[in-house]
Amino acid sequence: MTAFWAEPDYDAHELVQVVHDRASGLTAIIAVHSTHCGPSAGGTRFWHYNDPAAAMRDCLRLSRGMSYKNAMAGLPMGGGKAVILADEQRIKTPEMLAAFGDAVEALGGRYVTAEDVGITEADMVAVAQRTAHVSGLPVAGEGSAGGDPGPFTAYGIYLGIKAAVRHKLGKDSLAGVHVAVQGTGSVGGGVARLVARDGANLMLADINADRAAALAAELGAVAVSTDAIMATPCDVFSPNALGAILDDAGIAALDCAIVAGGANNQLAKPQHGAVLAARGILYAPDYVINAGGIISVATEYLARREGRNVDVAEVNALVEKIPGRLESIWQESEASGVSADVVADRMAQKLIGRG
Ligand code: NAD
Repeated sequence: MTAFWAEPDYDAHELVQVVHDRASGLTAIIAVHSTHCGPSAGGTRFWHYNDPAAAMRDCLRLSRGMSYKNAMAGLPMGGGKAVILADEQRIKTPEMLAAFGDAVEALGGRYVTAEDVGITEADMVAVAQRTAHVSGLPVAGEGSAGGDPGPFTAYGIYLGIKAAVRHKLGKDSLAGVHVAVQGTGSVGGGVARLVARDGANLMLADINADRAAALAAELGAVAVSTDAIMATPCDVFSPNALGAILDDAGIAALDCAIVAGGANNQLAKPQHGAVLAARGILYAPDYVINAGGIISVATEYLARREGRNVDVAEVNALVEKIPGRLESIWQESEASGVSADVVADRMAQKLIGRG
């Protein structure tokens, strides 16, 4: 295995810790990329990797991504991430979660954890028995923010789509605008409902065809096949399922003016941002437009540290700043001729003191 600091994804991370707890069988990696803006925040992924080097790469890449995302969201938080290496049976025990909580606690607040793939709210409640540096805990009461970040992510994407339509098409309303949504889960379903409420002409696709069909019936939308959604003629293509869909073939297939959706890591390779721009397609950088969830999670954490609950209106007010950030990226991109994804990366690097 290559030393982690020789990995291409190692980017002068402040701390990379491998946690091993013999009694529970826990093996985890915690990577703190940057605490320049505040305590590093990012979820814990529970995943089976065939190769531990792949787990290290994932953790390094994702923690750097969180530095960029949190900085661009205007949060007083840095970027970090944890990966728990699951065995083939993906056995997760209370003892493992307790040992993981102890490891987070030992970092004294330099890393704040939350849910990611394979980790539930109940798991975070278990981790919270051992450390205060946890977020994404159950909602405290009526009108309080917290819990599932999906609706806040969807709200930010909806606002980002409206900003893109205004910027690219000169329209102040989504009425009659054709929007194609890939993935109708927590985020995509929320986006679909919000744009439909504004009168958009909606097309939906999901590998869970029943889910897409039910939502289409509810919203008066058209369900299309997952193979066809990227090539569907539309104004806005909104990817809310998988990453790495914007590769050479995917971009060539697009028949849209705007790509604006919540899926993480949409560009298959860094150069695909420029390929999109060369086609004249306006791109909303994924980690800027999909920051609503982390805004909710981080605000919940910071409020709890102050001994208060945070309400939905307070989180929404922060999510409502996403369109302004996108607009400044697009303006800078047009002024400089540099693609929007690179402009966003440069802005983020400056914010974390690495510009
Ligand atoms: P989810 O599991 O609730 O929904 C994903 C949906 O995509 C599912 O309905 C699934 O069937 C569908 N899907 C999978 N492969 C597909 C394909 N090839 N074509 C069409 N549909 C497909 O997940 P989610 O929470 O809605 O997250 C969606 C994306 O947004 C992910 O990339 C996630 O990393 C990203 N994201 C989510 C949040 C959040 O707050 N949940 C925040 C930031 C980013």
